[in-house]
Amino acid sequence: MTVAVYPGSFDPITKGHLDIVERAAQIFNEVIVAVAINPNKKPLFTMDERVEMIRMASSHIPNVRVESFSGLLVDFTRKQGAQAIVRGLRAVSDFEVEFQMALMNKRLYPEAETVFMATHTDYAFLSSSMVKEVASFGGEVSDYLPPAVLKKMAEKFGDTVWGKASAR
Ligand code: ADP
Repeated sequence: MTVAVYPGSFDPITKGHLDIVERAAQIFNEVIVAVAINPNKKPLFTMDERVEMIRMASSHIPNVRVESFSGLLVDFTRKQGAQAIVRGLRAVSDFEVEFQMALMNKRLYPEAETVFMATHTDYAFLSSSMVKEVASFGGEVSDYLPPAVLKKMAEKFGDTVWGKASAR
């Protein structure tokens, strides 16, 4: 049984994240999407909202489970009996910090392997923070978010997120 943990803030989950979840679910028997409780970050969505949105967005994938965690990722990984930590890579700029984290996690818990998956080309520029910024200024973000997330974003930022305002 191969189990992978896919950790992140997911504030909110985007189609870029979901693409990684779908592909990881084809490689591993189980994928645990692990939403990090990070006291240094001030998220737009609460932990419960983020978990709920991921559950809805990934409901079509049977071998995905969504959990939250605090503390060290390697401790969570060990407790879950997972052998792999999945991370997505977009640009070279992701690489340095991801590489550093992977090496540190390997030192802390050698039993787990970090597996990097390259982003889908359609989502190479996509980040949760970019989507939030565009939505906050009234831009359309419907191409980048799963429907359940788009609904929540519309509650926060208004119907412009659907692109209705630009419909002509
Ligand atoms: P973190 O706060 O840990 O960076 P994120 O929620 O921003 O958490 O991202 C979680 C993981 O998903 C990271 O490995 C990140 O590189 C990856 N990721 C984010 N956006 C994309 C995308 N558009 N395509 C592929 N991977 C992505």
